[in-house]
Amino acid sequence: MTESLTRFDLPQSAIPTRWYNIQADLPRPLPPVLHPGTRQPIGPADLAPLFPMELIKQEVSQERFIDIPEEVREIYKLWRPTPLLRARRLEKALGTTARIYYKYEGVSPSGSHKLNTAVPQAFYNKQEGIQGITTETGAGQWGTAISQACNFFGLECYVYMVKVSYQQKPYRRAIIRSFGAQVTASPSDTTNCGRAALANDPNSTGSLGMAISEAVEAAATSGGKYKYALGSVLNHVLMHQTIIGQESMLQMKRAGDYPDVIIGCTGGGSNFAGIAFPFLRDKMVHGKDIRIVAVEPAACPSLTKGIYAYDFGDTAGMTPLIKMHTLGAGFIPPPVHSGGLRYHGMASIISELYDQKLIEAFAVRQLEAFAAAVTFLRAEGIVPAPEASHAIAQVIREAAAATAAGTSPVILFNLCGHGHFDMSAYDAYTSGQLTDFEYPEEAVATAMSALPKIDG
Ligand SMILES: *Cc1c(COP(=O)(O)O)cnc(C)c1O
Repeated sequence: MTESLTRFDLPQSAIPTRWYNIQADLPRPLPPVLHPGTRQPIGPADLAPLFPMELIKQEVSQERFIDIPEEVREIYKLWRPTPLLRARRLEKALGTTARIYYKYEGVSPSGSHKLNTAVPQAFYNKQEGIQGITTETGAGQWGTAISQACNFFGLECYVYMVKVSYQQKPYRRAIIRSFGAQVTASPSDTTNCGRAALANDPNSTGSLGMAISEAVEAAATSGGKYKYALGSVLNHVLMHQTIIGQESMLQMKRAGDYPDVIIGCTGGGSNFAGIAFPFLRDKMVHGKDIRIVAVEPAACPSLTKGIYAYDFGDTAGMTPLIKMHTLGAGFIPPPVHSGGLRYHGMASIISELYDQKLIEAFAVRQLEAFAAAVTFLRAEGIVPAPEASHAIAQVIREAAAATAAGTSPVILFNLCGHGHFDMSAYDAYTSGQLTDFEYPEEAVATAMSALPKIDG
């Protein structure tokens, strides 16, 4: 008998050389992005104050593959290819007939998948002579990644951090500052929209939507010195993450398996897109029979309870209007611990795939998510990021269903980050202080009634 393998590693030469742009294979083109003032489709010139031209081109590109610059691949070598493991000990703990695999993105220097896009974003800004980047961060993972990437390329970095995270996550603040970035609690008195928010509510704890408004304003009013970067949602961000799925395909081949179900948690949609899109191409183009499953928190259910409509990406209405699954830009998320999943909207591409029934979506409450995380960490030894634990909860549901049905599907999920900066959340869970939040239907209805009105 051959030895059973647990880890399917790839050589450095297997780091992908191209990103996969799913726009080339979508059944219909994405709905146009609209100008916040005129409400007409925007062109590249409208985005030029915010992003370097190469990223704007990627945002609208219809080319199936886009070459990864050598300078970016050089930095990817610090942690890629990332491991893919068969969760044999979890399978045993669950007593399941399913075969479970996970791709582990927590080995990146920032501890999550976010660095996969932070590096190329910083690279293209540097290449176009930009002095620095403004951005927001919620849970702190994106702030960590972009501050590292800016440091690699010698760019200044200004991070607007949602105030509640700024106060609750001093170590995130510290790591971002250690990489040389400036961190400001949002809402702040450094921008017009921040000052307006504070005038309205001096005790505001902030939201991702508000922090985006501040970062966008700071870039747009900098006279071209600074541009803005976003860690999820946008087409080019999702595309940069497809190296996760491309590597996973090679690793699953090494394992001699092919996934029947692919599972990822969804905040803005980028880590899910990263693992799923290359396989989704197999489904759309080659007719592979696979299920692709997005998992979101019940407290912030943009896919399962939001509607597919034009909305702003931020609170102050400064961003272009994007057609997406949304809970309304005025959404203030309840204080659940999966900070990275608390965004009112969902990536346009993910929303479109969901609308076309090419992917499924489920919501998980935080107590189920933390229970799943603890089951996983006791079996596999890795502390999952609270966001990733939503995916694990769905894996456990699927595994139980398979066992009950007597089937043995191959399940692959993205373990998009580790939870070493989130131990206060685990502390709350293990001491019995966590409660469940379900986003109330009335609140959904209220937020919906405030959606911008778009003709046609
Ligand atoms: C940011 C983040 C998320 C949510 O963002 P996506 O774009 O949906 O991936 C999920 N997990 C981790 C670990 C994150 O850092």
